[in-house]
Amino acid sequence: MAEEKMAFQAEVAKVLDIVIHSLYSNHEIFLRELISNASDACDKLRYALLVHPELAGKADAFRIVITPDAAAGTLTVTDNGIGMNRDDLIHHLGTIARSGSADFMKNLTGDKQKDMALIGQFGVGFYASFMVADKVVVRTKKAGDDSGWLWESDGAGSFTVTPDKDAPAGTSVTLFLKKDMREYLEPIRIRHLVKQYSDHIGIPIVLREGDKEETINAASALWTQPKQDITEAAYKDFYQSVSHAFDAPWMTLHYKAEGVIDYTALLFIPTKPPFNLFQPDRPSGIQLYTNKVFITDDVPELMPYFLRFVTGVIDTNDLPLNVSREMLQKTPVMAKIKKGIVHRILGELKKRAEKPDDYRVFWDSFGIVFKEGLYEPIDERDEVAELCRFHTTAGDALVSFADYVKRMKPGQENIYYLTGTDMDALRVNPQLEGFAARGIEVLLLTDPIDEFWVQTFNAYQGKKIVSVMHARADIDAVAADQQDIGEALDKAAADALVQRVQTILGKEVGAVQMTDRLTKSPVALITPEGQMSLNLERLMKAHGQATAFDSTRILEINQRHPMIRKLAEAVGQADQEAVVADAVRVLFDQALIAAGEPIRDPAGFAARIERFLMAGL
Ligand code: ADP
Repeated sequence: MAEEKMAFQAEVAKVLDIVIHSLYSNHEIFLRELISNASDACDKLRYALLVHPELAGKADAFRIVITPDAAAGTLTVTDNGIGMNRDDLIHHLGTIARSGSADFMKNLTGDKQKDMALIGQFGVGFYASFMVADKVVVRTKKAGDDSGWLWESDGAGSFTVTPDKDAPAGTSVTLFLKKDMREYLEPIRIRHLVKQYSDHIGIPIVLREGDKEETINAASALWTQPKQDITEAAYKDFYQSVSHAFDAPWMTLHYKAEGVIDYTALLFIPTKPPFNLFQPDRPSGIQLYTNKVFITDDVPELMPYFLRFVTGVIDTNDLPLNVSREMLQKTPVMAKIKKGIVHRILGELKKRAEKPDDYRVFWDSFGIVFKEGLYEPIDERDEVAELCRFHTTAGDALVSFADYVKRMKPGQENIYYLTGTDMDALRVNPQLEGFAARGIEVLLLTDPIDEFWVQTFNAYQGKKIVSVMHARADIDAVAADQQDIGEALDKAAADALVQRVQTILGKEVGAVQMTDRLTKSPVALITPEGQMSLNLERLMKAHGQATAFDSTRILEINQRHPMIRKLAEAVGQADQEAVVADAVRVLFDQALIAAGEPIRDPAGFAARIERFLMAGL
């Protein structure tokens, strides 16, 4: 078989273009990416040998060799890992396997630091080589195969694959460095980069200069070292390299559990949320090792979904080395470790929560995900609830359920909340007036997940979580501070007004009713209990769902409002019919606006306002 020339998948071509032209300033990470691939390849072979001992390979002598060649202007990274066959080469170095590439494009921010982080996360790591090289040659032979392959590309649209019967087992990647990238041939630069990015790699990284070889990384798994010997800088470097991140960890949790199950955990909570926190196919950030041998980073059963931002390493001796995917799913070991780590993480968070400013950093980044724990079926729901924080009507500080309950008014039975998309709009929502008048605090919830947990998380310490829209007699039990709350209409006038409003608005509202919950506003909209809230309905529609479920809107009228009293008087008078109709429609539109809904007939609204203005002037 001779040389075959193939085009890169369109997405790869685009990624390459971005990598080469836009992300250029941080080019040094190419080495970290190549070393990481080489190390993965060794881990894969080590693992494969457990299951297929017949595969040739010296499991104890894995190493990664970096060879700069000043004369040729090349830098070669060689590993004796699993290697690649023809299909692997075409598939792995010609396409982007994950669905992520479109997302990658979308997520590029123009901020080079952030965009570089994306490269690692999206698995376009290998392509970073083209930032520093104008040609890349890969020679590789897959473990168990008789002969190998040579892959070559200049990164401009296509690559070639040629049989290479002399390729040694494993993989070597040779970069033909661009003229202005010759700095990467200098041993001192290479040493420095390896120390910075790859020191913890558990395989020796050897620098070869002529016939001199020297191991330049510490080559010991960081998590196996005693805590007191590890510097904060070492933790940070390790975190950045396992998480492909650029920030510092907000929390570092390193411990050894001994008991029913023995394991070591080195876990991190980042400071900043990764861009793909809400991507359903996002890989888990946890790597599973058994006795220092990498098993997999695909272990959803190790971490509940609401803690999916946690990254790091779990190493246990309680799993057989040749554990399969199916076994991982079935073994009780995983569930026990999971329980252990969740307990430890929540415990640490509890300590950090004692310092509100510090905790707020975490909450601002991950609160939105953490709150899913109020919704996810987990045993630790109560502990999660203690750690949640909310914005409330009480001020700018974040508030816990415990704070809220402490401040509840005599006679107040429930914890009240209001949902919406915008905090500023929520704070002035007319629905809050009656609560403000009574000094009752209300949770202000603006994350989409809030709509869901409030449905399922029924109570905190026996206090129900109730929407302000559905507060009824219970808030009347709390004495209102307000003196001038106004007088209610008499029953006949109130009924007549409700009737008339209903007739004027017809099918546009499900019902019209009087309320005592408003104090300043004349009207407001609510949805009946048990139906989707207006906010949730909007969210669903924004996602193309639920167009069919228009919730019923109830128009509530503040019978103590002076304008409403005037309106009620006008209802009885024959010559006022047109004005009443106009006023009711304007009030309804006002209620829609306050609820964040579009006005249904803007032209009509404008005409009516104009008539009122004319009359007023
Ligand atoms: P990622 O490593 O994030 O998957 P890369 O673009 O760096 O993305 O690599 C793509 C794939 O190419 C790897 O997942 C791996 O399957 C393969 N690969 C890269 N380098 C090597 C290597 N040195 N040995 C074996 N396979 C490799």
